[in-house]
Amino acid sequence: MSEESEIRYCKNKKCHKELPIGYKHKYCEACRNKHAETAKNIIKGVGGTALGLVVTVVTLGKINPNNKA
Ligand SMILES: [Zn+2]
Repeated sequence: MSEESEIRYCKNKKCHKELPIGYKHKYCEACRNKHAETAKNIIKGVGGTALGLVVTVVTLGKINPNNKA
């Protein structure tokens, strides 16, 4: 039993497109592109929040006289 000769399908239940032999990903190109866009949006959201936190921490650090860093 070789995994390479096994026909696999896109993990997206709405898509279920047959994947090429030797294809390394669980989702087809189209679904991966969609997923990448979603991930980018999530990263943007998280990144914006993280930046806000860093600014808050730095500001608090400057105000705190016990912080010698
Ligand atoms: Zn797909």
